[in-house]
Amino acid sequence: MPRIAILGSTGSIGRMTLQVLASLGPEQEVVALAAGRQVEALADQAVETGARALGAADESAAENLRLALPKTAAPEIFVGPEGLAALASRGDVDVVVSAVAGGAGLPAALAAVRAGKRLALANKEALVMAGDLLMAEAEAAGAEVLPVDSEHSAVYQAIAAGRRGEVRSVTLTASGGPFYRRPDADRETVTPREALDHPTWSMGRKITIDSATLMNKALEVIEAHHLFGLEADRIRVLIHPESTVHALVEFVDGSVVAQLGPPDMRTPIQYALTWPARRPAPWPRLDLAAMDGLHFETPDTGRFPALRLGFEVVRRGGTAGAVLSAADEVAVEAFLAGRIRFNEIVPLVERVLHTHLEAGGASGFSAEPDLETILAADAWAREETKTCLTSFTFSK
Ligand code: MG
Repeated sequence: MPRIAILGSTGSIGRMTLQVLASLGPEQEVVALAAGRQVEALADQAVETGARALGAADESAAENLRLALPKTAAPEIFVGPEGLAALASRGDVDVVVSAVAGGAGLPAALAAVRAGKRLALANKEALVMAGDLLMAEAEAAGAEVLPVDSEHSAVYQAIAAGRRGEVRSVTLTASGGPFYRRPDADRETVTPREALDHPTWSMGRKITIDSATLMNKALEVIEAHHLFGLEADRIRVLIHPESTVHALVEFVDGSVVAQLGPPDMRTPIQYALTWPARRPAPWPRLDLAAMDGLHFETPDTGRFPALRLGFEVVRRGGTAGAVLSAADEVAVEAFLAGRIRFNEIVPLVERVLHTHLEAGGASGFSAEPDLETILAADAWAREETKTCLTSFTFSK
């Protein structure tokens, strides 16, 4: 009977995790839930699941959460990033689903693996920022890290068809997002509303914008590097608009093993929860005969330069991932706030990354950083991106 904590329970992945748990039946127990500021939704989830520990972003959110809970409910309430880490390492939790958005999820992910929990990781930024540390800590503690990212869940499943030394390459697919076919000039005027309308996947705001710039795929290349120990020359990306083949693993003998399914995050969520077992699921199933073919093409990194940054970060390692991830978070927020254009997101991130890689001193690159150095690089990148925002002008 696995006991589960869901960090980021009111977001897209968090809500789908609760659907999966409901369909799996009563033998799973939800012990802890954490959300940022959507405290009313969190209070409803707490009542529905009977969770005995809750997490909120800060004191004021915690106060609102107490007000939103029924008088009879008395769960323990944890606050802030430390609270999230405490929830993730509780003695009465076996599986931590980390679906926190952005870099805020890193301390809790580290706490979970240090405590030997199974980490069902949807928060790819934790791996992008500190994948070397996270995977080393997981190995030392005997903790499993199960990806809750459709492509990486697909790799995890397909790679089991051979031995690690027999893998020649891994291919992640990308839908291309809503603008892949759109001429460059049109992408200058894309509004946040258009960018938030993804053609195949239903996801949170940050990842949806990242999908439209292909930065999401860049982050996923880095994620694959850490999860599967693959160097950049063994990781490939294909544009696949139908989002049906999630990833392919090519073995040394020429065999390619792929995982397919409808674009539905409940499948990778359930796999991470039930692994190594598979359990029946009620979600819509794949019907290949009903589809109008499956299409694949090489991504155009000239028009979508984010992908190049992902491979560059894999090659450089160290603090490069933390800087890429933090700069992207700030740039996406700036786009959603109407401060920069859609096609300025990636050049802004690139500028901050290259400043970091080229600069010496406190803002400079470190090849083998500890957590403190990673968090310092993250903080530097956020500040640097904000500074660049004020002076950011492109020839339009
Ligand atoms: Mg993905």
